Amino acid sequence: PGFGALPLSPATLANLEALGYTAMTPIQAASLPPALAGQDLIAQAQTGSGKTAAFALALLARLNARRFAVQALVLCPTRELADQVAAEIRRLARAEENTKVVTLCGGVPLRGQAASLEHGAHVVVGTPGRVMDHLERGSLQLGALNTLVLDEADRMLDMGFFDDIATVARQCPPERQTLLFSATYPEGIARLAQRFMRSPRQIAV
Ligand code: AMP
Repeated sequence: PGFGALPLSPATLANLEALGYTAMTPIQAASLPPALAGQDLIAQAQTGSGKTAAFALALLARLNARRFAVQALVLCPTRELADQVAAEIRRLARAEENTKVVTLCGGVPLRGQAASLEHGAHVVVGTPGRVMDHLERGSLQLGALNTLVLDEADRMLDMGFFDDIATVARQCPPERQTLLFSATYPEGIARLAQRFMRSPRQIAV
């Protein structure tokens, strides 16, 4: 199926066509309707499945670029993945008003990242440790967050990030949407879902 039946803006639909995204991938077809309707999701998806566009389109649909606040946060296990995710979000957002995407990963001075945040970020993509650092020093605020995405959640748990993810989730407004993507479904995922998600729908393709 194509993207045309989804509640996406004409500009976004035209951009998808320009990008050559003519048909939805299975994970997109299964997750976009509930994600765009605001439901929490636990989606079992591998790299290469098109999962990034699935959550990117959902978070962008709710974003108000005229509001200068962080409205979406994507947590990723590694800097490489964060860079790829940020690039895909920018590609999908380019048809809309200026959407600012900032990446927050370790190995880069905190101060420059804090300056980028101060200049205004709508979407933050980062690794849990570095996102925590910015929350602690007050350079990142999540009070206006609409969408929290946990990408490759199983890998983040393998790396010992459960407590950091929990701390971040507690700082997000309770009425936000949470979208969790994971290739596998270990025990820690169920614990995260139970504590930080609201009646998540489970999707496997
Ligand atoms: P991902 O699994 O998110 O890493 O995506 C894998 C690749 O598929 C990326 O290069 C995307 O740009 C591309 N892609 C995602 N969705 C579609 C689609 N519906 N049609 C064509 N390519 C896509």
